[in-house]
Amino acid sequence: MHARRRNLRRLGDETFDVLIVGGGVTGAGIARDAALRGLSVALLERRDFAAGTSSRSSKLIHGGLRYLQHGDVGLVREAAAERYVVRRLAPHLARPVPMVFPLANRREYAKLSVGLWTFDRLAGVSEEEKHRLITAEEALEIEPRLSREELYGAALHYEYVTDDARLVIEVIKSAVGLGAVVANHVEVSGFVVDDGKVCGVEARDELDETEVLVRGRVVVNAAGPWVDQVRLMSEPEGEPRLRLTKGVHVGVPTSRMGLSGIVVMTASDKRAVFAIPRGPVTYLGTTDTEYPDLDYYPEVTSEDVEYLLDAANRTFDLAVPMVAGDLVNAWAGLRPLLHQEGKEPAELSRQDEIIVNDVGVVSIAGGKLTTFRRMAERVGDLVCARLVEAGVSLPPPVALSDEYPLSGGETGMDLARYEDYLASRVRGLKRNAVERLVRLYGSNASSIVDTMERRPETARPYAHDSTLTPAEVEYNVKHEMALTLQDVLERRTRLLLWDLRCGAQVADKVAGTLAELLGWDDIRRERELGEYKTLVERLRAPVVDPAIAEEEPQAVNG
Ligand SMILES: Cc1cc2nc3c(=O)[nH]c(=O)nc-3n(C[C@H](O)[C@H](O)[C@H](O)COP(=O)(O)OP(=O)(O)OC[C@H]3O[C@@H](n4cnc5c(N)ncnc54)[C@H](O)[C@@H]3O)c2cc1C
Repeated sequence: MHARRRNLRRLGDETFDVLIVGGGVTGAGIARDAALRGLSVALLERRDFAAGTSSRSSKLIHGGLRYLQHGDVGLVREAAAERYVVRRLAPHLARPVPMVFPLANRREYAKLSVGLWTFDRLAGVSEEEKHRLITAEEALEIEPRLSREELYGAALHYEYVTDDARLVIEVIKSAVGLGAVVANHVEVSGFVVDDGKVCGVEARDELDETEVLVRGRVVVNAAGPWVDQVRLMSEPEGEPRLRLTKGVHVGVPTSRMGLSGIVVMTASDKRAVFAIPRGPVTYLGTTDTEYPDLDYYPEVTSEDVEYLLDAANRTFDLAVPMVAGDLVNAWAGLRPLLHQEGKEPAELSRQDEIIVNDVGVVSIAGGKLTTFRRMAERVGDLVCARLVEAGVSLPPPVALSDEYPLSGGETGMDLARYEDYLASRVRGLKRNAVERLVRLYGSNASSIVDTMERRPETARPYAHDSTLTPAEVEYNVKHEMALTLQDVLERRTRLLLWDLRCGAQVADKVAGTLAELLGWDDIRRERELGEYKTLVERLRAPVVDPAIAEEEPQAVNG
């Protein structure tokens, strides 16, 4: 809390070269890029880092093979190359996972083979990760639950799986390590314009309910789906530029699906939909439909759920077909895409665009999680040009953005050896617990293990069916700016998504640890718990339609 108070004071006292609105992957990336250039940086996030779209993605650092169909060659080349950069900068957040793409006939086989051949060349895919065409028998050996009906063969290639919210938090931590001043739970409510040029923002600390005026030489709006809302605060006569589309994922128990890697499923409208195993939860997604409202938790409808379950039931031969009662959770996010006349949601380009308005607010929209670093570089170039125009002399850069590791990306050894090393340090620390820590925190897992070594009572999991410990929660508070129960369970430890009970079984105890660390009274603790429980209920039973919501879960298939 001391660090937060100090940050808020600095935000009010200093004038920053760059002031960023929004702490999703786009804003975080820009903060890191600008800090690497030696600029002074401030970032304000209304809720928590990654509270918007950046915690609702399919969590793939991917080349976007699909975008070749729409002729987005530039985007595919950039995204595909970025896979390797993200892997180099944060190996724990870009893990190659085999992906099976089932094909129904010779024509599909030939068509995909051309697409993948082009992709491998555009992306400079390494020899061991180049795609392979395999027979139906080989595909069934890898994924025995695939439906044999219409299985002619399959393509096997590699996608990199990440954890979107963790990626944002590591990028934020890197920016902070380079001197950026950032604050979550601080909302920007207006712009300060002097002589026709923006020179700062009015902001409000949502926790302390205090106001602060923050000054910046260049102000960047990276508010994702809220980009128009924020931009229009500085140009009331302006027109919206975004078209929001909703993407839903549903989580089901991994034991129900039994997949060893990612499988591409074909939905009723022929769209490709992924099934991605992640620990005890396998998630299916995504949808792509128009959505009119600016919600943090967009509504998941019975049609969304049916659409995804139907894709799974078409692709897999499950003894008992999947029904809504199988859901562990369901979540939705909004794609902040740029409007393109006459295009369907799925056809809208994912390419980013930078818009600078008359008062000088720089807005960035579109883009992908995968390309966050390149988007940040483009904004960084523009910021520097504007600073030079304003007579500011630029400092020497600190390091190159494609070389400087993200926080947690410095294990100095391969991840499996690093896990062995950590497991050997604390008696009784289970292998799956270590794997989970390394997957989430990379090299920073050693800081959590240090705490466990020093105070063994912090190594004891909160519940028998959870590996979450007080040592981890302490790390979230002291090193990751967690300020609420949701900050911890939704975006840092990720129990909301990757735990079969969404973390509900440990919420009370975690709230107890947070109360001690953050000085909460009983009223605050109860409020936090109440809010988290409401969120869990909403995610676990998202469908309002009673006919679907009341279906009983079926016996687990294997
Ligand atoms: C369903 C789905 C699946 C996807 N899958 C993938 C994928 O697998 N791979 C991939 O590369 N990309 C994927 N994407 C795209 C990717 O997730 C987005 O492009 C990216 O997360 C957008 O990040 P952002 O920072 O621009 O927006 P956000 O993450 O929404 O961040 C904007 C932030 O601004 C804050 N904010 C808003 N208003 C204010 C204010 N007034 N003051 C302060 N802060 C404010 C918000 O709270 C929010 O945290 C997917 C997107 C969706 C929806």
